[in-house]
Amino acid sequence: MPLILMTGYPSSGKTTRASELKRYLEERLQQPENHSQHMTVHVVDDRSLGFTHAAYASPSAEKNLRGALLSAVERLVTKRAIVIVDGPNYIKGLRYQLYCIAREVATTHCLVHCAISPDHAREINRARAQEEEGEEEDKAYDEGLFDELVMRYEEPNPSARWDSPLFTLVQHERDALPGEAIWDAVVGRRALAPNFAT
Ligand code: ADP
Ligand code: MG
Repeated sequence: MPLILMTGYPSSGKTTRASELKRYLEERLQQPENHSQHMTVHVVDDRSLGFTHAAYASPSAEKNLRGALLSAVERLVTKRAIVIVDGPNYIKGLRYQLYCIAREVATTHCLVHCAISPDHAREINRARAQEEEGEEEDKAYDEGLFDELVMRYEEPNPSARWDSPLFTLVQHERDALPGEAIWDAVVGRRALAPNFAT
């Protein structure tokens, strides 16, 4: 049901946090009081849509990627699914469109921002580039593309409906994942109450 969007610079830790969150949510769903919800957790990322980092270097490829992402989310956001979008989600307009999809099916939505300085993210990205193994998605971004994506990044604005609730994880402080707060915001009883006001 709920839609959870990750956001952050390249190599800001989005994929790491998305898997941590998926594990947390799956554990919660296995607890007896939540069995009746029969929910599953899906992660949608660029690779599962058939794209690599290279898509961000070409406006037309990026447009196709956005189209594929929107249709995948439209298809997956059902009553029985929690959908985590593990991608940069750096364009405000895209976050707005994804928010509208959640609204249309009357489900909850939140944003998880992996906050990191560009220098720290660049350092992690360089370290990644040194590692030779790893699947395509685990590979570093080209330095030029990295800089461009940092420049193009549109910071979340918690006072905008489509960027809230916003959970900010300060990566260099290794903030603990606020799993419970995210659960309460998008799955918990309060989130599902018919008169729950955001
Ligand atoms: P993204 O999906 O945003 O590109 P990843 O989650 O794949 O980022 O993380 C990029 C690299 O940084 C990985 O090698 C990961 O192990 C490492 N990493 C993740 N979180 C942190 C952190 N808080 N501090 C330092 N390194 C991290
Ligand atoms: Mg990633």
